[in-house]
Amino acid sequence: MQLDLKGRHALVCGASRGIGRATAAELAALGADVTVLARSSEALDSVVAGLPRTHADQRHDRIAADMAERDALASVAAKLVAQHRVQILVHNSGGPPAGLACEADPAAFESAFAQHVVAGQVLLQAVLPGMREAGYGRLVNIISTSVKEPIPNLGVSNTVRAAVAGWAKTLAGELAADGITVNNVLPGFTETGRLASLIAGRARARGISEDAVAEAMRAQVPAARFGQPEEIAAVAAFLCTPAAAYVNGVSVAVDGGRTHSLS
Ligand code: NAD
Repeated sequence: MQLDLKGRHALVCGASRGIGRATAAELAALGADVTVLARSSEALDSVVAGLPRTHADQRHDRIAADMAERDALASVAAKLVAQHRVQILVHNSGGPPAGLACEADPAAFESAFAQHVVAGQVLLQAVLPGMREAGYGRLVNIISTSVKEPIPNLGVSNTVRAAVAGWAKTLAGELAADGITVNNVLPGFTETGRLASLIAGRARARGISEDAVAEAMRAQVPAARFGQPEEIAAVAAFLCTPAAAYVNGVSVAVDGGRTHSLS
């Protein structure tokens, strides 16, 4: 199985912590040069310092940018592709705040759409010429199992994740002939800052302890535990490898069996 990513450049977004950080580490361990992106340069400096290096000429870097700021994001992406031919794009950032769809401020939909859909488009258009030139491209979107089964009280997130899934499926058909695949990884309950804040929010809303909320969530998972960021990252990284060349347009749930739907 061809898993070697030596000589390929990956841009991993939302990589200062959690699933993004773990994915950056996995891609680096497979030999890729990795640029990590998030808003804080300080946080990214320590991520870059900790990324694996499997060969002497492997280089990692970082970009501080806010995925919700379209023009600034386009500008840093243009600088990156002027320096490196990016062949792997992991499109990921923080999830929208929890809440009912019917009560969400319309502006919350606009900002989530900007951060999750528009940002993906900005980054894709920056890296696409290089992917086409290389005849090799991998776009992996980290979204959510909500694209299969909407999750109660994540109204804005459910809405925008579905848009990302529709965008990705469309791109998969458009770009396959160029050697570019587009797939989605759908994390289940994964032990990161995002999960901790969702648990804290539910505990506050219901007036119960965070332990009780976590226990009830774990009870929904056939594996009877939360996932680790590295378990999501392993699947995301596989989708970036040559071995995954014929996997295209799919959404892979990595959720310990929690999602009940067949497709
Ligand atoms: P996290 O909150 O731990 O990490 C998010 C990362 O994105 C951080 O590096 C953060 O700095 C960065 N980020 C946030 N907003 C940004 C912005 N505007 N611009 C640039 N970077 C930004 O989240 P996570 O748990 O690693 O989740 C990653 C994605 O997977 C999120 O979209 C999340 O909603 C989704 N997800 C997570 C879980 C889970 O249980 N952890 C479950 C389903 C879906």
